[in-house]
Amino acid sequence: MRMRNKPWAKEKMNEYPQYVIQNPEEQKGKWKTYFPQEGPLFIEIGTGKGRFITEMAKAHPDTNFIGVELSDNVLVSALDRLIEAELPNVKLLNANAKNLGLYFEPGEINRVYLNFSDPWPKTRHEKRRLTFKEFLAVYESVLVPEGEIHFKTDNQGLFEYSLVSFSHYGMKLNYVSLDLHNSDFEGNIMTEYEEKFSNKGNRIYRCEVQFPKR
Ligand code: SAM
Repeated sequence: MRMRNKPWAKEKMNEYPQYVIQNPEEQKGKWKTYFPQEGPLFIEIGTGKGRFITEMAKAHPDTNFIGVELSDNVLVSALDRLIEAELPNVKLLNANAKNLGLYFEPGEINRVYLNFSDPWPKTRHEKRRLTFKEFLAVYESVLVPEGEIHFKTDNQGLFEYSLVSFSHYGMKLNYVSLDLHNSDFEGNIMTEYEEKFSNKGNRIYRCEVQFPKR
């Protein structure tokens, strides 16, 4: 996501500890009691400007949500959304997904969402794709046993690559749509990228995959 540089982004995030998690490593093992109301914890990785995570939190008040985003420039837009929405069950985390194991104990997360992850089409950049096997191992290490990833994208190449990566990892494919917006899937919440690319006529691919029993 190309964004204007916002040198004040970090400072603004520090001003809103009620929305942006400040010292995530201190919460490790304690996420159950972090939110005002106990409930399952779903995280979105690469949350961007935060529309999906905010609308999900509105639609599912019994579930807690964390939007994880690497770029502070982007995350401040999500913060503006949260300030406006004033929801108790959604927080933001400015972090790289590869470090989730520093912040969460095994089993603390109930579901991972990946929405319109950067495709990194060049083979030499495979390791950066959020569905690369090393990222899958990180997600598995923090998810509940047999936890799920829900993934959507308009990028056919990334979708195909990811299905193969999930399968090689031993994951089970529980749901797949090759044209989400013309499917019977109910309750879809559009992300910013989803709106942009579907308006251009791109098809949206979606799947739900589950880690195997170990
Ligand atoms: N999910 C949003 C949407 O659908 O509108 C944003 C999609 S954007 C193409 C991908 C986002 O993932 C970017 O904001 C990028 O900074 C973030 N991202 C990429 N790699 C990441 C990582 N390793 N950890 C956390 N966020 C990451």
